[in-house]
Amino acid sequence: MKDETKCLHSGYTPANGAPRVMPIVQSTTYVFDSTERIGELFDMPTAHMYSRFSNPTVEVVEKKIADLEGGVGAMCTSSGQAASLFSILNVCNSGDSFISTSTIYGGTVNLFAVSLKKLGIECIFVDAHADEETIQKAFKPNTKAVFGETLANPALAVLDIEKFAKIAHKNGVPLIIDNTFATPILCKPFEFGADIVVHSTSKYMDGHALQVGGVIVDSGNFDWTNGKFPEFTEPDESYHGVVYTRDFGNMAYIIKARMQLMRDFGAYPAAHSAFLLNLGLETLPIRMKQYCENALAVAKFFKDSDKIESVRYAGLKEDPYYALGQKYLPQGACGVISIVIKGGKEAAVRFMDGLKLASNEVHVADIRTCVLHPASATHRQLTDEQLVAAGVNPGLIRVSVGLESIDDILEDLTQSLNQL
Ligand SMILES: *Cc1c(COP(=O)(O)O)cnc(C)c1O
Repeated sequence: MKDETKCLHSGYTPANGAPRVMPIVQSTTYVFDSTERIGELFDMPTAHMYSRFSNPTVEVVEKKIADLEGGVGAMCTSSGQAASLFSILNVCNSGDSFISTSTIYGGTVNLFAVSLKKLGIECIFVDAHADEETIQKAFKPNTKAVFGETLANPALAVLDIEKFAKIAHKNGVPLIIDNTFATPILCKPFEFGADIVVHSTSKYMDGHALQVGGVIVDSGNFDWTNGKFPEFTEPDESYHGVVYTRDFGNMAYIIKARMQLMRDFGAYPAAHSAFLLNLGLETLPIRMKQYCENALAVAKFFKDSDKIESVRYAGLKEDPYYALGQKYLPQGACGVISIVIKGGKEAAVRFMDGLKLASNEVHVADIRTCVLHPASATHRQLTDEQLVAAGVNPGLIRVSVGLESIDDILEDLTQSLNQL
């Protein structure tokens, strides 16, 4: 099936007489006919047992997203942050390290640099543009993964996924890609060698600013038996000796994430949230197409305005990421643009406050056009050096172009710029 069809049909095929739409299974638990059957499930969880780690409605969405990314399995989480956290905790223990490009979402920088450090896991940040030799120097014997973002929020840098996959694999570790901004409609990182994909589904996938969520997808391609990952190949005492690679084959990573991390930490979405996420996913391909079209028009408008110092959008021919964008995001570079207004921070704030249609909000990839000043909001915890490393100019504004009529969007931007 093509993506448009998968978005409508993957994950749920109703049986004879069953509801056309996947019902909301709002139940914490499930019943079984014998004590023995429940006992078996504790050894080998092959059925829904408790909604802290699996639920039939959420499972439909997991299957749909796995299918869209071209993976073997997926696990939803209650936020994108939880997905990023679990993607690392599934391969790193206290005393381990991993490598991340520095051009990633500010919340992820904080998670990696501050909170994971408290757990004894070191994140080594590298410049995404560094050559292979320089990146290679960041690896240590305890390095267990490489992390990057397809289209960095908010720097809008396109990652050379193939370059990072090659380096990661040379070192026997997986490449984990945050594919939030691109969505599987615009880029499928597994096709370029990534092993694990994470998303904040709160953005385009949900699409309507209704609920926060995340997901981890497993490509099934990484070889966990290379000696670096004993937790995958040795018996898990907390599950009566399950050996993930032996018992689950190429689904070892995603099943281990559920059986250990979701069981113990419990960051699973509610069935109702998954139902809403599924509604968003149904129209994802058609929405992504329109976001790209509207954003390209807005990017061109900003480029031609004498009040704008610079525009960043990988869909613009003069953008430094145009070539990488053509390779990884040939259908478009999503709806998010960043601009720097002439006149610095003060002009930026005046422009934002002068907008009437676009809203000033802490969100991105919403169906409605919205703007945000990262240096004073999502990235305010970063130092000036970290801001620069993350590609965030203090005067930068992130414009998330929505699905309103392009005429109305441009009229609003024009009236506010004219007041400067
Ligand atoms: C928003 C975002 C996150 C965090 O997701 P939440 O759902 O807000 O927890 C992670 N990565 C990227 C690229 C994001 O835009």
